[in-house]
Amino acid sequence: MATSTTAKLVSDGNIECRQCSARLPLRLSSPGQTAALWECLGCGSPIVGVASADLCAETAPLVCLAPVHFDAQEILEVPSNVLTLTERITLHSGPPSGNERRRSRRVTRRLHASAILMQNDYSLVSDPFSCLVIDLSENGLGCISQREPTSSDVAIQLTPNGLQSIQIFGRIVRFNAFGGGFYQLGIDFSFRLGNSRRQ
Ligand SMILES: [Zn+2]
Repeated sequence: MATSTTAKLVSDGNIECRQCSARLPLRLSSPGQTAALWECLGCGSPIVGVASADLCAETAPLVCLAPVHFDAQEILEVPSNVLTLTERITLHSGPPSGNERRRSRRVTRRLHASAILMQNDYSLVSDPFSCLVIDLSENGLGCISQREPTSSDVAIQLTPNGLQSIQIFGRIVRFNAFGGGFYQLGIDFSFRLGNSRRQ
């Protein structure tokens, strides 16, 4: 199997960066899996691969996905009646009774973001799509999209301060379908990837 020129396989099946020798939480794609383009954050080299099973909070910051994976065609425009509906649902599913499912407080936040669906083995399954973040906490977010969440996981890119984009892997823990092809997704964060050196 071919590897990109900057990737070197090491004995446990993970990829080591040829430029800076960082052992990355990436491996070659298996048959039927779509490999992604990543950036080694030790040196900025491009690497082709799939996130490996030992991706974790310590190793995820060593890499990020290439910007092309979040290059959604257009910004999602959500009609005001859909926004009103989602706000009602968000309000009704949260406190006051203290049964908040997320570990930290949600704040209402309107933020355009871009996402891709992934299988639970972190292989990519969709092209990028736009979404509108409607609430955000330390551990997760709620958003609206027009893409039906047909898989368990998602990679999402946000620019909360308008400057540096952050990429987060998350699990889709709930979704509601609305008319007009809109979906509201609840996402729990799994890992935050590193920040690109190219920004
Ligand atoms: Zn490197």
